[in-house]
Amino acid sequence: MRAHRPTAEFPRHLEELYARFPFERSLADDPVSEVRSLTHDRRSAEVAGIFAATLAVGNTTAIRGAVRRLAETAGGDVAWLVSPGHARERSRRLRSFRHRWIRGDQLDYLARVLEEFYRRHPSLESVFVRGLEDGGFAGGLDALARTLRGEAVAKRLGPPPRGYRALFPSPYDASGSPCKRLTLFVRWMARDRFPDLGVWNRIPTGELKIPLDQHVHWIAYHLGLTGRRTRSWSAVEEVSETLRRIDPLDPTRYDFVLCHTGISGDCPKERDLSVCGPCSVRPDCRLWRGRAVSS
Ligand code: SF4
Repeated sequence: MRAHRPTAEFPRHLEELYARFPFERSLADDPVSEVRSLTHDRRSAEVAGIFAATLAVGNTTAIRGAVRRLAETAGGDVAWLVSPGHARERSRRLRSFRHRWIRGDQLDYLARVLEEFYRRHPSLESVFVRGLEDGGFAGGLDALARTLRGEAVAKRLGPPPRGYRALFPSPYDASGSPCKRLTLFVRWMARDRFPDLGVWNRIPTGELKIPLDQHVHWIAYHLGLTGRRTRSWSAVEEVSETLRRIDPLDPTRYDFVLCHTGISGDCPKERDLSVCGPCSVRPDCRLWRGRAVSS
């Protein structure tokens, strides 16, 4: 038995899936819709994006609700969270905040890290670009993770709250984390095509990697874009490389479609003639073709 691979027509099938996809329907369900509504300029886009990406745990309804609650604590202007002069009030408002295992004291520390950062730098883009130049996309993500962990300002701010640094894994960590949340943040910032914000302009979109959440990993595995059954940075690299061969200039443009094909229920995640019939990537799907592909 050899590894499952998509058919030679997969690029055309994927384009069909993309062309037919109801973006507007799924945009309302995606956390990026909250980020878009909170964006007034580059600073607010970055702040909304990094907090929303940090909260991107669980289902999309809960994530959107958490981002809205966070925005309410800032009076509707997320840039307030990182602007100087109200540390005590911010800490008070965030004290009771909770989303899954993410706590308000961790978000308050993130706000303090960003407040310190923005005193000296205009944008997180410069951090990512510096890492990108040294070590490609993984290097950029590592530099971003180190900055957000507050490694450079820990002496000034004091130690972070319990579990804080684990919110920002790096591709270089021994855990092999897929780093979905930071990868998603970079996609939101760097792509200037729908539905992303494009407030960063120094990162070629061809360099971006796929934010490998459970939905994207499920469909990528079943289409043969990766043979890895578990999510990892290696799986991110494999899926991204396959998509880059299809669109070298913008491989992550397929991310939204692959993700929401799962979230929306368009894909039942089982072989079901009534749903799979019109699926554009059906010829490539492991479930449709049968589990075993004989050599
Ligand atoms: S063929 Fe069915 S199970 Fe496979 S990706 Fe399409 S909808 Fe999902």
